[in-house]
Amino acid sequence: MSFDPASRVQDYLVFGEFGDVNPSITDSSTYTFLSPERMEELFEHEIEGCFLYSRHFNPTNKYLASALVRMEDGEAAQVMASGMGAISTTLMTLCAAGDEIVCGRSIYGGTYALLKNLLPRFGVTTRFVDLCNREAVRAAMTPRTRVLYCESLSNPLLEVSDLPQLAELAHAAGARLVVDNTFTPMILSPLRHGADVVVHSLTKFINGTSDCVAGCVVSTREFIGQLNDINSGPSMLFGPVLDSARAASILKNLHSLHIRLRQHGSNALHLATSLTALGYTVHYPGLETHPQHELLARLMNPGYGWGGMMTFDAGDHAAANRLMTLMQRDKVGYLAVSLGYFKTLFTTPGHSTSSEIPFAEREAAGLREGLIRFSIGLDADIAQTTSRILDCLSEAGISPGSRPAG
Ligand code: PLP
Repeated sequence: MSFDPASRVQDYLVFGEFGDVNPSITDSSTYTFLSPERMEELFEHEIEGCFLYSRHFNPTNKYLASALVRMEDGEAAQVMASGMGAISTTLMTLCAAGDEIVCGRSIYGGTYALLKNLLPRFGVTTRFVDLCNREAVRAAMTPRTRVLYCESLSNPLLEVSDLPQLAELAHAAGARLVVDNTFTPMILSPLRHGADVVVHSLTKFINGTSDCVAGCVVSTREFIGQLNDINSGPSMLFGPVLDSARAASILKNLHSLHIRLRQHGSNALHLATSLTALGYTVHYPGLETHPQHELLARLMNPGYGWGGMMTFDAGDHAAANRLMTLMQRDKVGYLAVSLGYFKTLFTTPGHSTSSEIPFAEREAAGLREGLIRFSIGLDADIAQTTSRILDCLSEAGISPGSRPAG
């Protein structure tokens, strides 16, 4: 039976103190107790409806977390001040000195830098592999592997992770599968395909208005309890707490996510199809030519489209820069990092969001210098946007069929 995350979020009703449809925003860092005994009890274990201190959790953050639990079909969630806060505290919960992580080689640059540069200082090392190569993944797992880490749709190469297969490989080796689902909220439900933990940068599609940075972790009650444990939980002790005013605004935006995804997806499909028909090199999971199109079709929840992310190979770095400058001039969108905004955003990952990955590793993974990553917006008239892009391509001297350099 198909799973419908949007209906699950829609059916999450919270009544405010006065029956408000948007419940009051918690404006307190700390909470009173009617008796010292009650306070002591709460330090021992969680009590439904009782709050202690806002770094732990607070009512507004709990509302957003509960909606995300419903969306991901998990048991519990913790919202965070950033996607990186969610990723780093998750990995610190699962790994100790001497442990290993196996991670996809096509990955957000910040995550790569965390795994490659920072975690080794704490004795946790990572092997980066091609996740599309089952044997390579299996060979990289050792008895010390605690985590198999992937992005459901990878940044920026848009490789689709075979979640059931990766879950099987992880569990066979006694590891957990952690999935960053930032590019495909609602479209994919990794926990339903065997993942143990899902993380998001809420900064992107889920919030959708590019006005804040936030993240979340969704998993079992047990795992969120460990993450948030007052004695040893990385969320509690590193403290990347989300401000409650932001949690409230993200929750409101979450309620229109399904509509936005459909528009991002249909616009992206239109643009990808049009450019491909003219002979340009476009990568989009909704195209039948995408290597994991069939896989995504099998795993995705129906009705939300194929996502808003597309890449275009301009040939080389200079051509990509010319094109992006012209597209910003002609109001196609913004030359900016990030994604999931209502306007189209474009950037060259090799020189921005993936610049942490050394050149040779980027090239080996297929991340070329001329690659432009697009986050397609909610444009009312995508045919007009397409024609503006074609004019920019022509002015930039990028012709159909021009082969990527190198
Ligand atoms: N995961 C992915 C796939 C991302 O693209 C990003 C940021 O671009 C992050 C995680 C980090 O999220 P944040 O910027 O909210 O910390």
